[in-house]
Amino acid sequence: MFGRAPKKSNNTRYYEILGVSQNASQDDLKKAYKKAAIKNHPDKGGDPEKFKELAQAYEVLSDPEKREIYDQYGEDALKEGMGGGGGGHDPFDIFQSFFGGSPFGGGSSRGRRQRRGEDVVQPLKVSLEDLYQGTTKKLSLARNMICSKCSGKGSKSGASTKCAGCQGTGMKVTIRHLGPSMIQQMQHACNECRGTGETIDDEDRCPACKGEKVVPEKKVLEVFVEKGMQNGQKITFPGEADQAPDTVTGDIVFVLQQKEHPKFKRKGEDLFYEHTLSLTEALCGFQFVLTHLDGRQLLIKSSPGEVVKPDSFKAINDEGMPLYQRPFMKGKLYIHFTVDFPDSLAPDQVKALAAVLPARPSSELTDMELDECEETTLHDVNIEEEMRRKQQSQAQEAYDEDDDMHSGGQRVQCAQQ
Ligand SMILES: [Zn+2]
Ligand SMILES: [Zn+2]
Repeated sequence: MFGRAPKKSNNTRYYEILGVSQNASQDDLKKAYKKAAIKNHPDKGGDPEKFKELAQAYEVLSDPEKREIYDQYGEDALKEGMGGGGGGHDPFDIFQSFFGGSPFGGGSSRGRRQRRGEDVVQPLKVSLEDLYQGTTKKLSLARNMICSKCSGKGSKSGASTKCAGCQGTGMKVTIRHLGPSMIQQMQHACNECRGTGETIDDEDRCPACKGEKVVPEKKVLEVFVEKGMQNGQKITFPGEADQAPDTVTGDIVFVLQQKEHPKFKRKGEDLFYEHTLSLTEALCGFQFVLTHLDGRQLLIKSSPGEVVKPDSFKAINDEGMPLYQRPFMKGKLYIHFTVDFPDSLAPDQVKALAAVLPARPSSELTDMELDECEETTLHDVNIEEEMRRKQQSQAQEAYDEDDDMHSGGQRVQCAQQ
């Protein structure tokens, strides 16, 4: 695109880290990064520092905008730009000045007052599996395109006449009298020309768009949902919204909406999985098969002699969500254990258990100590329900007191009159 600036010593290091040439394509970069990341992964005995450098180099070079800055100005320029507030020039400003204002070329629009069409924002439902594995969604949508027959003029001859309703301004002013010396002026788009300020003779109307200047078109968009994307993340298709004459076309923006997963919950890069153990499993060991989001079967088992306590967590490294744009790195998979205790035990079960479990502290109480105690009865309770009811009655009491004070105040007033 541009002549590369004279090479400086510090704008080749990232290429060297990844072991690619400076002309490497995005594909080459991706392959080189993947290979090096697997080789240097800390979990496989690689050097964590080297692994971090790889990720950093790939992050910059895989982004065309950052790569351009890096090629021209080296690492320092990127650090200044990202850190913000660092002295010196802002590399992003320099970058933009090459393109003439807009980071995506053009530049001719500057200074010309052009309306910007509205962005179309669409929710896009995705499953947690989609976000884990990445997917492509094909979406068909209808949008307005500038009529190619009349190039958006709306007429065969290209001519139009000034709208009589608004004298070509596209706006109408209504005056409302609100009172003897008050008027309200309201400006609104002219209804005769729909704000365009011009009308087209019936005989001159373009047959393709019937003078509308735009024609509806169906288009299929392929939305790439990348591994590790987040709920609420936006995927933008610049300039793909409705076209209109003299208007900069808006964007189509898809907002990812992750559907609830019956088994997994996601928190950032980590996954949470609920599992219930029987009391026997919790005490004597367990193993079960966990089907991961990509269908892999993970065997989860306890160590011999290990006891799992109710409401405890265990984690598996690198089985969480892939990191966005660094999918070779993954978070943790946490398993939350619930232990299903039996509601009651038969006398012989109690006897058998008492024989193998550690002795009960109650067996150490002497008869004399017991004689001095009062007997009690334990009832089953639903503690949340009881606390809620108590709070409600307290609130009611406070309200009643408030009421008393009001009527008291009134009585004093009455006495004074
Ligand atoms: Zn008009
Ligand atoms: Zn037309």
